[in-house]
Amino acid sequence: TISYWNGRYLPLDEVHVSPLDRGFLFADGLYEVTAAYNGRLFEPEAHIARLQRGMASLRIDTGLSAGDWLAIMERLAADSGIAGDLTVYLQVTRGAAASRGHGFPAGVAPSVFGMTSPLKRPPAAWREQGVAAITIPDIRWLRCDLKSIALLGSVLAQQAATDAGVVDAIQLRDGVVTEGAATNVFVVKDGAVATPANDSRILEGITRTVILRLAAEHGLALEERDVAAAELDAADEIWIASTTKEITPVTRLNGKPVGTGAPGPVWRRLFPLFAERLGR
Ligand code: PLP
Repeated sequence: TISYWNGRYLPLDEVHVSPLDRGFLFADGLYEVTAAYNGRLFEPEAHIARLQRGMASLRIDTGLSAGDWLAIMERLAADSGIAGDLTVYLQVTRGAAASRGHGFPAGVAPSVFGMTSPLKRPPAAWREQGVAAITIPDIRWLRCDLKSIALLGSVLAQQAATDAGVVDAIQLRDGVVTEGAATNVFVVKDGAVATPANDSRILEGITRTVILRLAAEHGLALEERDVAAAELDAADEIWIASTTKEITPVTRLNGKPVGTGAPGPVWRRLFPLFAERLGR
């Protein structure tokens, strides 16, 4: 499969990364995962804008414009050799310095990498029955707004879910919901949707942004605010949302049913609108 590496397109196994790359040594970098359905990228501009905001915040300058990024993503998708839906993965690190030292090195070019993978869409059973999740403490740092390649917090959260035999782990910080292992979280009570506000405790998910837009367009009550942990136990519906999990209803939390224990009416109203946006 074709990949992108610092201005060139080449087979993935021909990409060689220096052990001095700051992505390897310090996780000093950012990434993006964008889906493409039927050969069409979903919300690529939003993913590019988030990457560019993150890079500006970290003072990493690739010299690539939004148009350049879009061209890279489109070429990777077009030449992927993947028959069905796919994801485009992009990663930028601060690059490989001559020696190891924490501060930003001078005169080092960022490393820019891209690849594609087949997209495994969520199984139909997730939409029919929902999925199970657990809650766990959020042990991550306080810049979760950056889509950092330093993912140990998310790795451990996902493994806690897997060890518990469930799909996701909803993280709690200071008594409020932050997000899932790699998803944003929504709760519904009496027809009103709430999701944690967009601050540095969460990643501003592109799927989340699409949900906010759909809610506004279709007159769904949706509030961005602190969501108390206790609201999860009282919720009629809980959803997790991301590029790869789409919008998935959580119907069991910590071994107990959420609401009726089946995907709820607000999700059933919203999901078809979302699927239509995906071209699905
Ligand atoms: N929150 C975290 C921590 C994530 O890692 C992700 C995606 O990987 C999301 C939320 C959802 O973001 P998006 O909808 O852009 O995929």
